[in-house]
Order: sequence, then C-alpha cells, then structure tokens
Amino acid sequence: MKIGFIGLGNMGAPMAANLVAAGHDVIGFDTATHPEGLTLADHAVDAASGADVVITMLPSGPILRAVAMQIIPVMEAGAVFLDCSTVDVESARAVASLAADAGVLALDAPVSGGIGGAAAGTLTFMVGGSDEAFRIASPLFDVMGQKAVHCGPSGNGQAAKICNNMVLGATMIATCEAFALADKLGLDRQAMFDVVSTSSGYSWSMNVYCPAPGIGPQSPADNDYKPGFASELMLKDLRLSQHAADAVGADTPMGRLARDLYAQFVEGEGRVGVDFSAMLPWFVRRGRM
Ligand code: NAD
Repeated sequence: MKIGFIGLGNMGAPMAANLVAAGHDVIGFDTATHPEGLTLADHAVDAASGADVVITMLPSGPILRAVAMQIIPVMEAGAVFLDCSTVDVESARAVASLAADAGVLALDAPVSGGIGGAAAGTLTFMVGGSDEAFRIASPLFDVMGQKAVHCGPSGNGQAAKICNNMVLGATMIATCEAFALADKLGLDRQAMFDVVSTSSGYSWSMNVYCPAPGIGPQSPADNDYKPGFASELMLKDLRLSQHAADAVGADTPMGRLARDLYAQFVEGEGRVGVDFSAMLPWFVRRGRM
C-alpha cells in the first residue's frame, strides 16, 4: 500500500520502519525529527496526497485536529485516515466527522505495548470506526502489532484505551501503597508478593510489572525505574479519562484520585522521565518516620 506516516517520534519511527520492512511504500513527515531509512516529505500534505492510508502518531488532540484539517482535503475518497495517537474521544470523533464529509474513511486506533512493542511489531490496537475501514487497515495492524480489537464506531478505540489506563493507574497506586504499608508492618516484600500475586489482590501491576525491585518478573523497578511507561504519559492518559468522565457525567472517583496523585508526582515532585511504578519509593518516603 501507499502510506503517508505523520509523526515520526519514539513510537511513529519504528512503526513506519516496520511498514517499510514489510514492503509498503511509506512517505513520512515530522516537524522536528528526520529518522534515517525513511523517505521523507517536506510537508504533511505531500506525505498524504495519493496515499491509500495516512497514519498519524502525534502528541495530542489539538495537534491531531490541526494535521487532519491540513491533510484530509488532499486525501482521495475511499482512502483511510488511521490515527494511532492517544487523544481525547472528542478529537477522535471530530476528525472522523471531518473525514466523513470528505468521503475519507477514519479509524482511531491507539496502541498499547510502548516503544518496545512498536519496534518489535507487537503492539495491541484498540480500534474505533467502520467495518470497511477496519478491513482495509487490518494488514497494517498485522505488520505493526500482534492484535487489533475492533471496539465499535469512531472514538471507541480511544474510549477503550483510557478506560484500560485508568484501571492501570489505579492498580499501580494501590500496589505501591500496599508495599509501603507492608514495609511499615514488618511484612517482607517477597512474602507480600507471594501472597497477593496468588490471591484476590493480584493484578498486572503486581504480577507482571511489580513496582518493588528484585521481586517478581523483570520490570522497570529492576532498572532504577527507567521507563517503561513514563509517569508523565500515565498522567496524560489519566487526564484524558477524567476529561471524558466530566464530558459524559460518569462518576470515576478512583480515576480522579489517580490523576491527582500522578499530577503531584510528575509536576509537584518533577518526576518526569521515570517509570510510573516509581510511585513506590515516593510513597515510602512520604510515610511518617
Ligand atoms: P513523541 O513525542 O516521541 O512523538 C511525536 C512526534 O510528533 C514528534 O516527533 C513530533 O515532532 C511530531 N509532531 C508534533 N507535531 C507535529 C505536526 N504538526 N506534524 C508532524 N509531526 C508532528 O511521542 P511518542 O512517544 O511517539 O507518542 C506518540 C503518541 O503515542 C502519543 O499520543 C502517546 O500518548 C502515544 N503512546 C505512546 C507510548 C509510549 O510508550 N511512548 C505508548 C502508547 C501510546
């Protein structure tokens, strides 16, 4: 397929490289970075015009909307605008509506799996949009990922992503504070892991991505909390979930508290560029001596 790829950062560059390796004709564009091994355009519209699929991997909803307004008018009817960024549900739906007016198909397809998954081609895609658009994009999901779940109409991919990450943020905080409490109670961390990971308190945060160094499978805690999944990205996703909850009137008190704690951690403590599981040493420090 002829593919325009806009946003060649930490995630976009390896995703585009995998599409090139699979034999697709990819033209990339980024306002700041110029990764090697990719054919690059001087403007976003040059990457988009004549493409069967345009993929975007951008930092935020406002940037996505601005790029979509630029490029949808030059896309051919029946082409697919495939956004893989994590953005707010309203931006995803606004872009889909702009595309529909121009006869362009649109999918919101945020990913899980991080930079490692992008490089290895093992991302999971959560996809909103029509059956027809999903069918056209499926071969590309197969190259860039290991799984694509069609979650319903436009915006539902973003909805699935922020619901998942709201659960993740809350369970990570709960796991970290439980370790901090166990320390104070004189309960050995390994013993606590052995119990909780096989009892009703188990979760991905405890069992797979344990925030305590030296406990459970390898995780960023064993690498001095280098990300992994950076705290500021978790904060971004928790803000998106609370923005969505406010917009539709959903009651999400745990999600709100998780957002506030990550805001304090990232912005109050300046903990940028550290893994989101580094809440554990923070909670330990915050405890009374
Ligand atoms: P990044 O900041 O490394 O990359 C974004 C790129 O977009 C940058 O290279 C930037 O120059 C470019 N850009 C900004 N404005 C542009 C414009 N108008 N036109 C063209 N390019 C423009 O971010 P990333 O880590 O690659 O993340 C991209 C998206 O994926 C985000 O929405 C993020 O939330 C999501 N995501 C990231 C991860 C992760 O682990 N990094 C995991 C899952 C989802």
